[in-house]
Amino acid sequence: MPAQHPNRSPVFRLITIAASGLGSFVLGLWALRLGFGNDLAAMSAPAVGAVVAALCALASGGAAFSFFAGVDESRSYVFKETQVDKLTGLNGRTAMFGRIAEAVSASIRTGRPAFLIDIDIDRFLQINDSIGYVQSDELVAAFAERLKASLPAGVQIGRIGAGEFAVIHPDGDATFNLERAVERLIERMTEPYPLKTHLQSVKVSVGIVAIPKDGRDPVLLLRRSNLALQHARMTGLCGWSSFQPEMGQVADYRQWIEAELHTAFERGDFDLHYQPQLDLMSGRIIGYEALIRWSHPERGMIPPMEFIPIAEETGMIALIGEWVLHKACSDARHLPDDCFVAVNISPVQFMTKDFLGVVRKAIETTRIKPSRLELEITETAMMQDRDRAAAILKALSEMGISVAVDDFGTGYSNLSYLIDFPFHKLKIDRSFVSRIDTDSSTGAVVSTIVGLSRALGVHTIAEGVETENQATLLRAAGCEVVQGYFYGKPAPLVIRQGIAAAAHQTLQ
Ligand code: C2E
Ligand code: CA
Ligand code: CA
Repeated sequence: MPAQHPNRSPVFRLITIAASGLGSFVLGLWALRLGFGNDLAAMSAPAVGAVVAALCALASGGAAFSFFAGVDESRSYVFKETQVDKLTGLNGRTAMFGRIAEAVSASIRTGRPAFLIDIDIDRFLQINDSIGYVQSDELVAAFAERLKASLPAGVQIGRIGAGEFAVIHPDGDATFNLERAVERLIERMTEPYPLKTHLQSVKVSVGIVAIPKDGRDPVLLLRRSNLALQHARMTGLCGWSSFQPEMGQVADYRQWIEAELHTAFERGDFDLHYQPQLDLMSGRIIGYEALIRWSHPERGMIPPMEFIPIAEETGMIALIGEWVLHKACSDARHLPDDCFVAVNISPVQFMTKDFLGVVRKAIETTRIKPSRLELEITETAMMQDRDRAAAILKALSEMGISVAVDDFGTGYSNLSYLIDFPFHKLKIDRSFVSRIDTDSSTGAVVSTIVGLSRALGVHTIAEGVETENQATLLRAAGCEVVQGYFYGKPAPLVIRQGIAAAAHQTLQ
């Protein structure tokens, strides 16, 4: 229940105080007149003063009574305001510190541990920006409701950030399996949310600390559960992790990257490397994927997987992404006319309001033919807001730009969206390609993806091809385009006589 206002508003309280003062004063004058009649004028000044002072004391007594009654109400009001989260009715952040402290004392007293689980909606701020605060409030409320419904009764839950929640979960009986419980919870919390305007998909990251093993101080415990959460988000494996002491160092590195990204951008640390994509039948290079590189003057090369997620969280990806698009389109002018450039688009960038405007500007200023630009967009990006994604893909298609679904097979298993979305290529993820020659079921999956793409009338490209054997199996499965170390590693563009090529091509 959201906190109520006190019964007496501040204005009402002022009126009580004023009326009590005025009333006593008038009563006093009347009493004076009654008691002394015409002798009032004859009274000595000290006597009148004493009577008036007594009346004032009476009035202020009444006022003080009203005031303290008000203070009492205000206390409960302030308590509710600070302890209860208005939007969800859950414990607020301050209240959660108290609940954690209680859980610590209880587990020390009883010897039964508990877990503090930190759950955060990934890229909540970007979701908020793109769908607006009304819908994002609706999302938070629905998320909180589902969280409550998914946990045993009596478990303490709090909203501790915009899209962040904390849960104190008791260690269950002997059959309780934390791992399984958390995985089930994640599965449930990431089912799409039907909002009034659209179906909203979310991903979550979860961090866990054990009470009292990982700490006894609520502030420290929350910091540690958040470190574990950041770790889960960075590694992106199964969406959750439990706290390990070395996570503190990772957090320092993360903070360093966050602080350094802007300077790096201004200083011009970033560059693009290009990796060739070949037609598997003819062996001809048909395009190049642009891959960003950050060369830091002191720390050297920093891999994209380490800074792109941070750039996404801080919003820096908008600037970086725009730069990548512009640079890749500009570089394309130096590539053979029949080659395209493939540019990776972050899900966050894809959802920014002016994404289409940015693409249009890159094309106009560099005067590249739109058909020579391919955008690699992940399934996850397309699933955030299907209607919007479909509209953007349609606009891109009308502009003549082709779209490849990146990392295909790693995201959602629901394939129905493929029918609604206009795109031109499925990019089979490296995790399938790397197993294709050792695991027979992977071969079947790849053949199925190729069959699916044929049915949809789109092309297939396989990434991460490292061996001849993998290439042979991909050819047998009917895959059309390949990319990987076997054909050429990402390399800087070297421009000779106006024609460029990725610096070293270990083409067979
Ligand atoms: P991705 O889009 O899946 O890119 C392919 C990654 O696999 C690249 O890693 C590439 O260097 C690597 N790779 C290519 N062939 C092979 C191979 O045969 N074997 C192995 N083991 N790896 C291979 P990289 O350059 O480190 O990029 C990692 C990820 O960072 C990319 O994954 C992409 O998601 C992201 N990224 C890179 N550049 C950009 C960019 O300009 N914008 C955005 N938004 N993301 C980018
Ligand atoms: Ca890619
Ligand atoms: Ca990939």
